Amino acid sequence: MKKQSMIEYILEATKVGWETKSSIDKKKKSSKYERLHHRIDDQIKYCPSCELTWKKNRKMYIRDFEYFPKNHIPIIGKEKTKCPKCKEKNNNG
Ligand SMILES: [Zn+2]
Repeated sequence: MKKQSMIEYILEATKVGWETKSSIDKKKKSSKYERLHHRIDDQIKYCPSCELTWKKNRKMYIRDFEYFPKNHIPIIGKEKTKCPKCKEKNNNG
């Protein structure tokens, strides 16, 4: 094998290696995102009182729960549960 073609071979092999790696990374990232998105989506509830979608946060977060803007998330199939704010309102009269 000539020296020149050896270098070309290495360059070619490296290039292919990079392309493969980056496409694997892409796949990993997207599936990770989908999983994460799904898990959060399952936790989202719809408050029929204030008509907002909301979800409980884990204890490590500053806020106990958070709201999503109207029309941001489709409410079909969401569990209808009053949000903590509306629950509080009811309790106070
Ligand atoms: Zn509410």
